[in-house]
Amino acid sequence: MTILPSIFAAFLEPIKLVYVGACTDLGTDPTEIGLAVEDLSFNKGGYEGEFAAVEQPPQVRITWNGLASLWAFSQAAARVARAMFEAQRAADPEGPPPELPIEGDLKMGVDMFELSVRLARHRFDSWVDWAPKPDALAKSGGDAEGNQLFLGALGWIIRHELAHHVLRHHARRSIIPDENKAQELEADDQATRQMKGSYKADQGRAYGVRPSPNEMELERRALAMFVGMIWVVQFELGPHGESATHPDSARRLRGLVDSLALSPDSFAAEILSYLVKVLIDPEGDWPADTEEATSGDAAINAMVMITRHINAQTW
Ligand SMILES: [Zn+2]
Repeated sequence: MTILPSIFAAFLEPIKLVYVGACTDLGTDPTEIGLAVEDLSFNKGGYEGEFAAVEQPPQVRITWNGLASLWAFSQAAARVARAMFEAQRAADPEGPPPELPIEGDLKMGVDMFELSVRLARHRFDSWVDWAPKPDALAKSGGDAEGNQLFLGALGWIIRHELAHHVLRHHARRSIIPDENKAQELEADDQATRQMKGSYKADQGRAYGVRPSPNEMELERRALAMFVGMIWVVQFELGPHGESATHPDSARRLRGLVDSLALSPDSFAAEILSYLVKVLIDPEGDWPADTEEATSGDAAINAMVMITRHINAQTW
């Protein structure tokens, strides 16, 4: 046993609730397709990833390393989003976009990202002393926002895995890579539609006008889905990738952005693009002061950058 099951013990109940909610959405019975949370997958043969739809017995299997890494990544994302939001509020709307110094929330975000990378790849026998311990009961601030993002992102990933079961993908598992790629996109689409529910962006809303509560909820969910997807492509496909069966990340994100149909000034899409620039590919060759036509374009560009970045890594 590593330290992760005990350090994340208080998250087990909220995680089970997320699982039951996902089962309700997908029309499955949690006693028939159960959730298995396991310690360390690294020593096993036939590696399937930190999150997997397992056929026998029918389960959604997740590992503590996967959970912990997703938690840390969500903590990072919440802090980057907060720093960006504050900077935008303080900035002169007529002036150039603000330059954010890496300090305060943003520095903590970068540190939590580093932690998520380590959690995805290494055995943890003790917690690090430079990052806060997980606090499932946090009531406010970055910790609470990060937890909320974590449970939302997890909800999207779990719906994706359940969708593989519901769509009977195991029976159709093919050795033809393109067919498996199609199954991934199908599972994404199912998960996204369930998480989106009936929330909609007001496409007629004038640029910069505050969104309605309905659209704000869509934005909140969209950000959680973006976080879930970036985590999956960054950590599952990078180190453990079966790139033959997984469609490239830009294509997956395109599907997600298309089904969300966010407004052109979506805050969630803007944050996604910023997350990639600040956390994942800070050395990347980003055009200065990019003038993407819409935040959807910015999101797609971000994903192209992730794909390029991941492909350039040697694991
Ligand atoms: Zn999948």
